[in-house]
Amino acid sequence: MTAVPTARQDAGIDALAELLADGDVVVLSGAGLSTDSGIPDYRGATGSLRRHTPMTYQTFTRDPRGRHRYWARSFVGWRQIRGARPNDGHRAVGELQSAGLVGGVITQNVDGLHQAGGATGVVELHGGLDRTVCLNCGDVAGRAELDERLQAANPHFGPRTDEINPDGDAELPDEVLDGFVMVGCLACGEGPLKPDVVFFGETVPRDRVEHCFGLVEKAGSLLVLGSSLTVMSGYRFVLRAAKLGIPVGIVNVGPTRGDAKADVRVDAPLGEVLPALAARLAG
Ligand SMILES: [Zn+2]
Repeated sequence: MTAVPTARQDAGIDALAELLADGDVVVLSGAGLSTDSGIPDYRGATGSLRRHTPMTYQTFTRDPRGRHRYWARSFVGWRQIRGARPNDGHRAVGELQSAGLVGGVITQNVDGLHQAGGATGVVELHGGLDRTVCLNCGDVAGRAELDERLQAANPHFGPRTDEINPDGDAELPDEVLDGFVMVGCLACGEGPLKPDVVFFGETVPRDRVEHCFGLVEKAGSLLVLGSSLTVMSGYRFVLRAAKLGIPVGIVNVGPTRGDAKADVRVDAPLGEVLPALAARLAG
C-alpha cells in the first residue's frame, strides 16, 4: 500500500525535486530509512535507546563477558536482520541513482538494505553487520559463515524475542545468555570476533571519513534521509556542505539537528516521500 502524500508534503516534494534536479546528489541515510523494513530506530518515538543501552567499543573489547552477551543476543537478532528486505525508500534511492541523479550514497545503517534495494558504491560509514573482523589478527570474514559455525555450536540455542535493536542486538535474559557457545577467528585460531561495525564509543576510520568528505565536497546537493543527525559522525557532513554553500535537503519524521542548515526540510514518512520524488525525477 502506498499512501498518497498530502498537499503540504507535495509542496515539500516539489521543492526537493527542484533542489536535486541538477544531479550529483549525495545521499546521507540513517536508521529512519530502514524502519519500514522492520529494523527499529535508535531514537524517535519507539527508539530502542529508550529501553536499551547499546554495546560500547570499550565494553566489547575489554570485557569478555560483555562480548559473550553481545554475541548471544546478536545470534538471535541476526535472524531478523538477515530476513529484512529493502523497502520503497531504499528502492527509490536505487532508482534515483540509476537515473544518474545520485552520485554517492553514505549510510549510517549497518543492515545492507541500500545495496539490496539497488544502490551501488554505498559507503557504509559505520560498517556492516554482514561481516566480522578479528580483534587479534584483523581478518575480515563473512557473517553468514560465522552464523553456520554458531548454529553448529549452539544446536539448541533458539530463544525467541521480538525485541531487536538496529545493531542486530536482541534483548535476552541473563540465564539464557549463559547457555550460548561463542566461536573464535578461523584465520588465527584464537582471536575474538567483532562485527565489522562501528560501536558507540568507537571512531569511524579516518580514511573512510575523508572519502565521505570528498564525496560531499564535490556534490551538487546533500540529501539527508531518515537521520536525526544527533551524532557528529553524520552531522559533520551537513556542516561541511552548509559551509561550502552546497544545498541541503532533509527528509525525516521529526526534527533533526541539521534543520537550521537545510534549504528544504520535509517532515514526513520516507516511504511516502521518496517514491513520489523518484517518480518526479526518475520516472
Ligand atoms: Zn584472527
